Amino acid sequence: MSLYDLEIADWQKLLDNQPSFRSNQIWKAIHEQAIRPETLTSLPKPLREKLASTPEFGSGLKLLHLSSDNQHLTEKALFELDDHRVIETVLMHYPNRSTVCVSSQAGCAMNCSFCATGQQGFFRHLSVGEILEQVIWAIARTRTTRGKKRLSNIVFMGMGEPLANSRNLFRALKRINENIGIGARHITISTIGIIPGIKLISNLDMQVNLAVSLHAANNQKRSSIVPINNRYPIEQLMDSLKVYTETTNRRISFEWAMIDGLNDTDDDVRELIALCIPLQAHVNLIPLNPTPGWPTKGSPMNRVTTFAGILDNAGIAVSIRDNRGTNIDAACGQLAGTLADRISGEKFSADDSAKIDLGALLD
Ligand code: SAH
Repeated sequence: MSLYDLEIADWQKLLDNQPSFRSNQIWKAIHEQAIRPETLTSLPKPLREKLASTPEFGSGLKLLHLSSDNQHLTEKALFELDDHRVIETVLMHYPNRSTVCVSSQAGCAMNCSFCATGQQGFFRHLSVGEILEQVIWAIARTRTTRGKKRLSNIVFMGMGEPLANSRNLFRALKRINENIGIGARHITISTIGIIPGIKLISNLDMQVNLAVSLHAANNQKRSSIVPINNRYPIEQLMDSLKVYTETTNRRISFEWAMIDGLNDTDDDVRELIALCIPLQAHVNLIPLNPTPGWPTKGSPMNRVTTFAGILDNAGIAVSIRDNRGTNIDAACGQLAGTLADRISGEKFSADDSAKIDLGALLD
């Protein structure tokens, strides 16, 4: 439970002995300024003290560890939830944007063979507040390390399958958009291809971007690395994406982790092109990041660029994702990696200096 799980009506109830503008004042501050209510100096001191000890807030996300590359361009936060589950959030700064990669579940039930989160298994959905608090942390952290720069983009590419937690995801999206003020066009949902969720997104009143983790373009191969393909096979997935593009007038992108000898052959690229053309899909190639539970290697870089070249020649928009965060286990599919493994089952006992209180960061 997080204070961001409270809706405005809950705040009104909680503050019913206060002047009526208080709930709006607090609601605005916690979303727009990303600060905790008890630190809001425009509130009377007794109220701040009361808020500091309000049980409804729960402890929210507790920052266990923060790993950074040396220029703070990529930072990975490891958060402990109320029930001691651990999730990860990655913040990446580029010259013209700052993007946070948010988790939607603790663990993941999709069990994709090459993904560290899948290898760990599924624990539970994140609540609306737990999703939002990751964004709030990223806003505050960007302010701390980048001065005037603001968090600009949100990608749901952290731990978990966002469309398997669509109820909380959509509520969180609405709050990100309406209350935090980050526009739908700056938000990307990455899905393994949960068709009922894609149908919901097609009819959402927000124009968020959709990325689909395809990784293989025939059922036999895709099912061998992405088990959910047995339930939502490629033909049905493509039908749902056609509806999405027609309804929203937006292009989708396909994510494709490049796996040596498995999905990087000439046949693979031919099959992929055939799927892209009717949707005018963009392709995002991801050099495979190593995970402990899967021995297969990533494609050599020259194969990645050749594969990209073939797509480009066929008129398909293609990009190669940079391997941000590999050295701090924060790259795609590496979340839930080393540190989370070390602390699972035991109480966290890493170096205390690595512990930073989320409350302090939000000040
Ligand atoms: N469940 C969602 C979002 C989380 S994963 C989804 O599947 O899209 C975000 C992206 O990282 C997905 O495209 C996923 O397939 C990819 N990924 C997972 N493990 C990876 C790895 N080891 N190397 C490269 N990309 C990986």
